[in-house]
Amino acid sequence: MYYESVLETIGNTPLIKLSRIGNEFPFTVFGKVEAFNPGQSAKDRIALYMVEQAEKSGKLKPGGTIIEATSGNTGYSLAMVSALKGYHCVLTVTSKASPEKLALLRSLGADVVICPGDAEPEDPGSYYSRAEQLAREIPNSFYLGQNFNLDNIQAHYHTTGPEIWRQTEGRITHYVCCAGTGGTLSGTARYLKEQNPNIRIIGVDAYGSVLKRYWETGLFDKEEIYPYKIEGLGKTIIPNNVDFDLIDDFVKVTDRHSANRVRQLARQEGLLLGYSAGAAMQAVFKIRRQLRPSDVVVVLFSDHGSRYLGKVYNDEWMKQQGFMREEDEWQSPYSHTIRKIYRTYRMKYKRYLRQTRQSLRI
Ligand code: PMP
Repeated sequence: MYYESVLETIGNTPLIKLSRIGNEFPFTVFGKVEAFNPGQSAKDRIALYMVEQAEKSGKLKPGGTIIEATSGNTGYSLAMVSALKGYHCVLTVTSKASPEKLALLRSLGADVVICPGDAEPEDPGSYYSRAEQLAREIPNSFYLGQNFNLDNIQAHYHTTGPEIWRQTEGRITHYVCCAGTGGTLSGTARYLKEQNPNIRIIGVDAYGSVLKRYWETGLFDKEEIYPYKIEGLGKTIIPNNVDFDLIDDFVKVTDRHSANRVRQLARQEGLLLGYSAGAAMQAVFKIRRQLRPSDVVVVLFSDHGSRYLGKVYNDEWMKQQGFMREEDEWQSPYSHTIRKIYRTYRMKYKRYLRQTRQSLRI
């Protein structure tokens, strides 16, 4: 058995029971692990679906150029889809994106246009405005527009939703998912609610984002906006792709709790996941008292942890942010034995002793 191309491996990600991190929960929790996609995130689904819809509607023609404002997962997935389908891919990114992220995008053949990270969305220099300008000027180009193009919702309506329904054999009672563009949340929720309107949809938002307040009041409250660290969830605009009517409860989570929760998922479940997965898991902890033993909770984990090694998986970064105290640092239970072995070979292997000490903090 083989696949015609890597694109055929998108979707059908596993649903994994979280029995260690959730061992004190009376209810069942499953993680839908989107890191199993070839581009290691849920954005593979929208990149493939939205590009194919644009091909069908004639918005994208052979040899055309795909444009998007993104420094994250969507950029990587679009670069991958473009490579296989023979399109050019131009991504506008903010200057905040790390060199590793830019290298990832370039390695798949995308052109990367760097824009000021502190520009307001309406500013002509912002990465949104730049993408729109490029789309106007480059002939035969297609601007994906993941915040406002409703095919984003459709991608998850046709794939993520049916997969979760099938994988839980219709037993799901709660769906917990971060909202950024809203596509993952809305598309999956719409499908699930059509199968069983009693399924509760729990949106996850960041402190510093306007989404939850908008859901509560219908008002765009600028006062809610301030910088935060979690990547991928929350917004400072109201995207079309958040269908607020589908959401039964919206939970806000902090940078600190989410960072510690994703580290716990790695240590206890062996799942190296992105920062927003910690946010989604933290939301489950926040609502746990509302849940009954018969409940079946599915929590969506959007991406892989490899893109966050310098952040949430880096103790120094955690300490700089004030997310971790010295005494919370992990210590190997074998520190004493390891130290003893090294003592014997101190002179010969001094360098390695120093490096081991650093990594084990012994
Ligand atoms: N987590 C991560 C890591 C993301 O990149 C995104 C997308 N911005 C989300 C969560 C939220 O997904 P969506 O845009 O579908 O709401």
